[in-house]
Amino acid sequence: MPDTNGRPGSAAQAAAGKGGAVTEARTDERRFRVYTFAVLTMGIAAAAAVSLWLDFEASDDLLWIGPILALAFLLAEQLGINVDVRSGISWTISFTEIPLVIGFFVAPFEVVLAAHLAAGIGTLLARKVAGRVLYNAGAFLLEITGAFAVAGLVKQASGAHDMTWIAALAGTLTAPLVSTLLALAAVRVLRRRMRVSTAIRLTGRILVVGFVNASVGLSGYLVISGTPKAWPLVLAVFLGLTALYWAYSDLLREQRDMEALSDVSLMVARSGQQAAARPAGRADELVGGVDVREWATIAERIKDQLAAGRVVLRLRLEPKDTMRMVVAGDELPPVDPAADDPLLRLPGAHVRHFRITEANPDVRSALLDRGAQEALVVPLRSANQLLGVVEAHDRLSRWRGFGKYDVQLLGTMASHLATSLDNRRLLATLRHDAYHDPLTGLLNRPGFRQVAKEPLREQVDAVVLRVDLDVFSTVSDALGYVWADRMVIAAGRRIRDALGPDVPLARLEGASFAALLVGCAPERAQAAAELLRAELVAPYPVDRLSVEANAMIGYATSSAEDDDQVDVDGLLQRADVAVRATKGGEEVRGYMASMGQIFMRRFQMVTQFRQSLEEGQLSVHYQPKITLPNRQIQGVEALVRWVHPEFGRLGPDEFVPAIEAAGLIGVLTSFVLEESLKRVRKWLDEGLRISAAVNLSVRNLADEDFPTKVARELDRFGIPPELLTFELTESGVMSDPQKALPILRELHSLGIVLAVDDFGTGYSSLAYLRQLPVDQVKIDKSFVLGMGTDLGDLAVVRSIVELGHSLGLTVVAEGVEEDVARDQLEAMGCDVAQGYLISRPLPEDRLEAWLQARTARSPGRHSETVLTLLT
Ligand code: C2E
Ligand code: CA
Ligand code: CA
Repeated sequence: MPDTNGRPGSAAQAAAGKGGAVTEARTDERRFRVYTFAVLTMGIAAAAAVSLWLDFEASDDLLWIGPILALAFLLAEQLGINVDVRSGISWTISFTEIPLVIGFFVAPFEVVLAAHLAAGIGTLLARKVAGRVLYNAGAFLLEITGAFAVAGLVKQASGAHDMTWIAALAGTLTAPLVSTLLALAAVRVLRRRMRVSTAIRLTGRILVVGFVNASVGLSGYLVISGTPKAWPLVLAVFLGLTALYWAYSDLLREQRDMEALSDVSLMVARSGQQAAARPAGRADELVGGVDVREWATIAERIKDQLAAGRVVLRLRLEPKDTMRMVVAGDELPPVDPAADDPLLRLPGAHVRHFRITEANPDVRSALLDRGAQEALVVPLRSANQLLGVVEAHDRLSRWRGFGKYDVQLLGTMASHLATSLDNRRLLATLRHDAYHDPLTGLLNRPGFRQVAKEPLREQVDAVVLRVDLDVFSTVSDALGYVWADRMVIAAGRRIRDALGPDVPLARLEGASFAALLVGCAPERAQAAAELLRAELVAPYPVDRLSVEANAMIGYATSSAEDDDQVDVDGLLQRADVAVRATKGGEEVRGYMASMGQIFMRRFQMVTQFRQSLEEGQLSVHYQPKITLPNRQIQGVEALVRWVHPEFGRLGPDEFVPAIEAAGLIGVLTSFVLEESLKRVRKWLDEGLRISAAVNLSVRNLADEDFPTKVARELDRFGIPPELLTFELTESGVMSDPQKALPILRELHSLGIVLAVDDFGTGYSSLAYLRQLPVDQVKIDKSFVLGMGTDLGDLAVVRSIVELGHSLGLTVVAEGVEEDVARDQLEAMGCDVAQGYLISRPLPEDRLEAWLQARTARSPGRHSETVLTLLT
């Protein structure tokens, strides 16, 4: 017979502060009480009516038949198993139909009723389950009354005088039908959801089991009553069937328990999979990395599986270390959280079973405080840390309390939970590390991509900011890497504070960051970026120092109206291009399509460079320099040219920085050096001593082998070192003097002439110049060009000439376009002039023609020929 037990408050309630759920539970409790009284009244009325209608003759045997029947009912129920437990109703299939069907033949209605009531209510009272006695009494009354009424009707209809087996069978099946209907009514009263198909399937199953039970009982009874001596046979059959049934039910139970275990583990594993990638700072209530809401579902599942009236999870919330209670099932009466609770003293990891019948008065009162008759309690531990406690209260059965299987199941569930929590924690750590920057704790590039993907897919306005802090190398050079790291952390924190906790923010590399502003309209991007920049350039107090930093911001927008939605990578790349464009002076720049073309051009230049060199697209032009005042050709400056098949003539200002950044400058310098030395060799062969000046970049000075390579080249062409000049900018040397200086000294000691290019533009200072092993200064052309109109420029040129001479250096002026300038320079005592006035940079053949046409040859002091510019 199905054991049906409606109990209110099945919905998972988080007890703390969730007033709604509690009130709902109270209304449920009230409805259920009304329902109980209805059932009880109907039961009593029906029992009285049937008792009057069915007039059984009493027999002497009743004195012992009654107690035997009661015992049989008790046994039959105790052997039952839970079949399906959902919706707050437990369904236990038991053998109750067997004593019932026999009862029809051996005892009158009142005796069977009394035996059933005594067995059922006796058990409940023994277990001190007072709350459900009335409802169950009513249910018992209706079941037995219904059974006898139907049996009586069938008997009457068939016209038989004695009880027929058909009537007994029909009557017996009525009992489970009635109890099922009552349970379904309880489901409705408690407004639990149960699908009609589920209800029908359940009823069907119960009737089938009932039919089998009744048939077994009936067959046994008929055999024995016909052939009393056959009782051992019937007993054997019965025992055999019981054994089969038990084996099967064990299997069924194990299978269901396995399902429950994997369910619970899966819930833990699946819960909040996005949590790791969520922006930091959101206040989730997490226990073991699992959201409290998920725990409510887990509690519900445990409750269902144990057929418990209530499951209480006491969980330790992670960041705050506060306790949180999650209740599934019946409402939990309010308890003093500070009170010492004997149920929560948890010495081991095993499940403990407390009963109201226990001797210990503390345990009894703790159970009474919970409104529970019994409780299973098990600690929840993960990674050697107590996460909380699981309590299961009161098994939903009118016959049995928690058994050893329930204890086992809860224990296994707790350890499975712990294991999957451990796994989750490990996974979460791995995922976190994969998506976060260890220094700042912000997202890293993959993390940013992951987080930004979602909002960008939703066709909203979005802005990707790329922030480059211009401090990293300076600080790390001056103060060391620890300081640079502190700066980066401080900057990250400042951006976070400026943009708020929910903005996806990443540290990409070094001191560059990326942020995603969702819902920021394109026209507001510039203002937002400027605001952020203003925050970032304020001095940084790092330890006791105050470090200044400059910040460049590039941004790229994606508008909801755009047809071509760009993905995260696209926006990041555009913002990157935009931030590179800030080098031009503006500190905040938005991406423009033209920048993309520049970027593409640079990209192509870099990738095609080696090939172009081999294909002869690159050549060296030479610009002559003359000595002042006698205007002899002193040397030429080698200036590289690239005629690109697609882009046409490329100026070195455009491609040299790109080549440099790509680490290809060594290749370029070797080419120019080789071409220049070849040229000088030809002149030497003609008896001309004309030197060549080759421009170096900083990166050349980072190559320790560079002096060796140069020496080898000079050797190869047999060029005296004084006919080679290297021009370097001062800022280039000073950006990394430790590396550059030894190389410069080495070059200098080879006898090569070293010149400081673009002098006057950088940090130019006398102190630096004195440290450098140089022979020449080249006054930057901007001063020479401005000399005629700007007195300041004139003053600069004059002082550089004087300064250079005072240090014993040769002074060269470039950018000499006018006669006046040349004359002024001559008057100041400048040693060498270079510029369009003399000649533009020329390809080799045209330079030869120029030399032929514009210079006069005369024998020099030694054996060489001297070229003097014709006027
Ligand atoms: P730079 O070393 O300052 O070279 C002088 C630049 O001034 C050259 O530009 C030259 O054409 C230009 N110039 C010469 N005389 C005059 C004049 O009278 N008036 C004006 N307005 N300009 C004049 P170019 O050839 O475009 O080179 C630009 C820069 O590219 C060079 O500046 C140099 O820094 C770099 N560069 C050129 N060739 C190489 C090379 O082979 N290696 C490296 N590392 N850099 C190179
Ligand atoms: Ca130069
Ligand atoms: Ca220059």
